[in-house]
Amino acid sequence: MIRMLLTASVLIGSVTAASENGTAEVIRSGSPTCKAIAFTFDMCPVRDGAGYDAPLIETLISKRIPATFFLSGRWIATHEAEVRALLAVPFFEIGTHGQVHAHLPMVDADRQRKEIQGPVTLLQTRYGRRAPLFRPPYGEYNDATVEIARALGLRFILWNAVSGDPDPQLSRTRMVDHLKATVHDGSIIVFHANGRGRHTRAVVEDLYQDLVLTRGLKPVTVSTLLDGCEAGQTRDGTEPSH
Ligand SMILES: [Zn+2]
Repeated sequence: MIRMLLTASVLIGSVTAASENGTAEVIRSGSPTCKAIAFTFDMCPVRDGAGYDAPLIETLISKRIPATFFLSGRWIATHEAEVRALLAVPFFEIGTHGQVHAHLPMVDADRQRKEIQGPVTLLQTRYGRRAPLFRPPYGEYNDATVEIARALGLRFILWNAVSGDPDPQLSRTRMVDHLKATVHDGSIIVFHANGRGRHTRAVVEDLYQDLVLTRGLKPVTVSTLLDGCEAGQTRDGTEPSH
């Protein structure tokens, strides 16, 4: 008698999320039909100085300009009072910017996961704040970066308008002229608020005058730009929404 052994071969496909759902979205701007813009400010770690552009923050608060901040873990660890100050402003939004500001494509996926997760966990455990937006340091990423951010439930936020504010060669006028020419409806603009931007506050004030008050582009957080902006939204002058 021949006994046949039927071997069921169950193939467990190792389907990656990327191939299943398509490439995760790397966001550089909102809809071009949205008459709004997002001012964003990175908090990269600093070795010296205050690491916090207090006059800039005061300007944003006094003019009630909604803004989105991307905090690195190392910056959070050395700026507890400043973190609390930012979290206390209802029209500020907080995202993360890696733990130690590593060049993510240069490290393996495990290290990338730790880098990306670090400040998210810190904000959650120490400050009780979810931070679902992520911006990679230097704007650098590879497929693993995108995949990890998605697995962690983070939105991947870049920009489409560059202030160039850490560049000591750039004058205020040149920065403003460049941004006035490149910012359009739905733009996300990248600045720094860690004290590295020489003219950041002045440039923000100039842009507020030109883009917001004159051109009627409404300043909003990144999340509002992406989720809260109806197509064809009418201009509503200088009153930020609540
Ligand atoms: Zn940075």
